[in-house]
Amino acid sequence: LASKQAHPKPTIIEVGPVKIGGGHLAMIAGPCAVESPERMESIAKSVRAAGANIFRGGAFKPRTSPYSFQGLGEEGLKILRDVGARHGMPVVTEVVDPRHVDLVCEYADMIQLGARNMQNFVLLTEVGRTNKPVLMKRGMSATVQDFLMSAEYIMAQGNSNVVLCERGVKGFDPATRNTFDVALVPQIHKLSHLPIIVDPSHATGRPELIPACALAGVAAGADGVHIEVHDKPEEAMSDGPQALLPQQYAELMDQIRKVAAAV
Ligand code: PEP
Ligand code: MN
Repeated sequence: LASKQAHPKPTIIEVGPVKIGGGHLAMIAGPCAVESPERMESIAKSVRAAGANIFRGGAFKPRTSPYSFQGLGEEGLKILRDVGARHGMPVVTEVVDPRHVDLVCEYADMIQLGARNMQNFVLLTEVGRTNKPVLMKRGMSATVQDFLMSAEYIMAQGNSNVVLCERGVKGFDPATRNTFDVALVPQIHKLSHLPIIVDPSHATGRPELIPACALAGVAAGADGVHIEVHDKPEEAMSDGPQALLPQQYAELMDQIRKVAAAV
């Protein structure tokens, strides 16, 4: 179902009024975790003004340590939905537990499946039973075939609204958080009709490397860019060190528009 043989033309996924694929770019931005309504409000305002069209934030966070902040849960889903609506942006948020799929669907316009859950087949199946658009991150060491087979799990249940996301794979060099695999973008476009976007925030973990990788992704034909933005990174509840400031995001968006116009 995910292969190009099944469907030769690029699929266009609709998330509220936003189209993704076939020349339409998803510009997803927001903090790693949903935080206070005031903080979400100021971040939403700035990313919207810069040209973001989908607002993000995790209410259920898959953290490496069980003692790290795990997210605001349903309260966070409400904040995300309300703030997104006030700024005219549909919202995407992660689901980490099959028991939360219905709850997350009540509030979100798009469901995110994180890298750590790309091969959580029970979760993929549950998400496949809904009709919500899905943003699926590539697993930390998933091959292209693994990635497409996970999309297949979702689609086999009847949900064809899958957007893929390259977010870096495990490398050997701790200088970057992960290794950004820009070649995945043209590879996916060759094998599949599904849109693929890039997430240079998690791929590099370093704000100074994000712009170059975002632009490389767009130049390679990515159907969108996913970036973490925070106005007080030092106070962020998670992933603060990799967040772009609103001003940096706005400058990057100007460059992204220029590159996108040239591809
Ligand atoms: C995130 O988007 O905040 C996240 C946890 O991403 P990933 O699953 O790619 O690590
Ligand atoms: Mn994050």
